[in-house]
Amino acid sequence: MPKRILAYGRLSDDQLAELARDFEVDVFERLDSANDSAFRTALKGAHGLIGSSLAITSDLLDEAPELEVIASISVGYDNYPVDELTRRGILLCNTPDVLTETTADTGFALIMATARRVVELAEFVKRGDWQTSIGEAQFGSDVHGKTLGMIGFGRIGAAVARRGALGFGMKVRYSNASPKTELEKELGAERRELDELLAEADFVCVTVPLTPETHHLIGAREFGLMKRSACFVNIARGKVVDEAALIGALETGEIRAAGLDVFEQEPLSPESPLPHMANVVALPHIGSATHETRNAMAQRAVDNITRALKGQRPISPVNAEAWPTTQDE
Ligand code: NAP
Repeated sequence: MPKRILAYGRLSDDQLAELARDFEVDVFERLDSANDSAFRTALKGAHGLIGSSLAITSDLLDEAPELEVIASISVGYDNYPVDELTRRGILLCNTPDVLTETTADTGFALIMATARRVVELAEFVKRGDWQTSIGEAQFGSDVHGKTLGMIGFGRIGAAVARRGALGFGMKVRYSNASPKTELEKELGAERRELDELLAEADFVCVTVPLTPETHHLIGAREFGLMKRSACFVNIARGKVVDEAALIGALETGEIRAAGLDVFEQEPLSPESPLPHMANVVALPHIGSATHETRNAMAQRAVDNITRALKGQRPISPVNAEAWPTTQDE
């Protein structure tokens, strides 16, 4: 009997056909109350799950006694109970690398947009307010030659810093769990304690994963340490930042602007003042959202689940310790 996969993420027809060559595949285009009971029934015989938007709870795992692998179509895995999956012997895989450059592009777009007030001034033109030559009231600040402070200096952090250092002649400072000596050499980057980095940077860009240690890593105290002229960019996860403190810092002018791809609550609550603030550029979590990259992420997830269910080590396991050593190649 072929193993059974439940697919609830966006996979192309070719990717679904590829899975169907080796497995039985049940496709749930979207998960909602209308198909919840069908999904839960299908879970009972599922060996693999592939997708990205499902909350994996103990309840749900109890209903999937055959489950061997979850292939998430994302690099972040803060929404998965990794320890519990490991205890149950369920392998979790993610999609690092293939989205690094695209997410860094989004980060740099936010750096440029906040510094040069791109969205605010495009709206100014759209409203018909461009009646005479622009003056100081519309000036922004330079990006080239400024200091870029990276909080998190992993794959995406390094890719943002590369754009800044090599494309815009920026000085790079970083705060990261471990030192990154190769990147220091490559980019002239210097490691700083977080507080020092916040005080020194013209642009602060967050790329740490969301973990218990990074939850609300940036709050009122940290905004108070930044320059009043600083632009703050978050392309990591909303909960790394205390959003109420961020709103306060933007309202009082403690920092100049914010470029945000991620929020504490997504989709953003209609009550949030953030999208209405002139000094905020708010995006709907589009870090990796290009045709090419979403396709590459889906393909990585297909490759991961195929390998795992065939007893081969997947390309990017999160909890490799859940992989039975007897199956190691
Ligand atoms: P990564 O390569 O693992 O980089 C994360 C970096 O953060 C690592 O260098 C790590 O340090 C550092 N770090 C972890 N915990 C830390 C802490 N408590 N204090 C200081 N530094 C810490 O991951 P990545 O591929 O760059 O992705 C980073 C995150 O971006 C993901 O987890 C995801 O949440 C987010 N993301 C968002 C989007 C989007 O759509 N906006 C898209 C992709 C990813 P070490 O190197 O020492 O371990």
